Amino acid sequence: MVNNRVKSLNKSATLKITALTKSLIREGKDVVNFAAGEPDFDTPDFIKAEAIKAIEQGFTKYTPSAGIPALKEAIASKLLRENNIKTESSNVLVTTGAKYALYVALLSLVEPGDEVIVPMPYWVSYPEMITLIGGEFRPLLTKKEKDFKIDINVLKKQITAKTKVIVLNYPSNPTGVTYTRQELSEIAKIVEQFNLYVISDEIYEKLIYDGRKHISFASLSGMDKRTLTVNGFSKAYSMTGWRLGYLAGPNEIISQASKIIDHTTSCAVSFSQQAAVAALENKTWAEDLCLKFQERRDLLWQGLSTLDKIKPIKSQGTFYMFCDVTPTGLSALEFADQLLKQQMVSCIPAESFGIEGYIRLSFATGNGQIKKGVARITDFLNGI
Ligand code: PMP
Ligand code: GLU
Repeated sequence: MVNNRVKSLNKSATLKITALTKSLIREGKDVVNFAAGEPDFDTPDFIKAEAIKAIEQGFTKYTPSAGIPALKEAIASKLLRENNIKTESSNVLVTTGAKYALYVALLSLVEPGDEVIVPMPYWVSYPEMITLIGGEFRPLLTKKEKDFKIDINVLKKQITAKTKVIVLNYPSNPTGVTYTRQELSEIAKIVEQFNLYVISDEIYEKLIYDGRKHISFASLSGMDKRTLTVNGFSKAYSMTGWRLGYLAGPNEIISQASKIIDHTTSCAVSFSQQAAVAALENKTWAEDLCLKFQERRDLLWQGLSTLDKIKPIKSQGTFYMFCDVTPTGLSALEFADQLLKQQMVSCIPAESFGIEGYIRLSFATGNGQIKKGVARITDFLNGI
């Protein structure tokens, strides 16, 4: 009865465990939430005020399907100013979250049977979206010793006549690593040589630490013609529930892709779009957020890096810390399950990110919770 592609999908482990954690907390359980894939900070008041104003002024109807002109223009100038991507507002599509921007990007580029390469470990939704549109998901092996980054020689070997797209995500969910200009340029050469396209998911661009600078893939020489840049408001402005993201790229792709929005969601939420203009005009909020997250990263790192049975990788960006738990002798699923049951600490086992033996800890929670969580993990490890 049900379509086979839909039947073959896995549920989202990140959404499932996050929902379970929230429901335990609602029941009054003292859970330390290291599972959350969203900032714990409230959406800033200056953004809320714009949405309230928009609703009060009756801005509550369908908008143009590609997004309101003011937001598309604000996005195009942001991309030029901050990302060195020269684009027109007509090459921007506003979407219902970055997740939907990714889906639209994949659907626009991939024919059934085309191969899509995704570095592994990967965020849970990439393989499922590729399956859903009939593409062939091709995970690209990376190594811990190389910070889980793409090895150019391994990438070259993986490319076949059917390869069409590489999905990049940096700073990376779940590993927290990011790429330098030099490393990205090496990837760009391959993209050019093999006539590929890149979907570059840069949703964590603002959360990047220790003075690193985020380099957008589309800003590299020749890559503007081959790159669809995906970004959104969920992480940088604590707007996960507002469901707002965007896609920017070459006009010949974007003008076609906009038809998908016409016939699926119609448009993103009107007052979310109006409020997002104010988000992009603000200069300081996201920078302050980044500093707060860096402090939390340091706190979690200090707590975990001296322990014996867990080997964290110091995050270069995002609000995730990826940890090797193989020294415990437990699988990541067992680790996550027992940690929740014994110590009331939730985290995401990395099987769903395509790798065994790791867990993802989110530090999108307060300093007090981080300290409490570290103490509980220490107790848990001592008991093994
Ligand atoms: N890409 C990555 C890597 C993510 O972690 C997320 C978080 N859910 C998204 C895209 C989608 O974000 P949203 O749909 O909330 O904009
Ligand atoms: N991206 C977040 C995460 O990885 C949110 C949940 C989801 O959409 O997967 O946890």
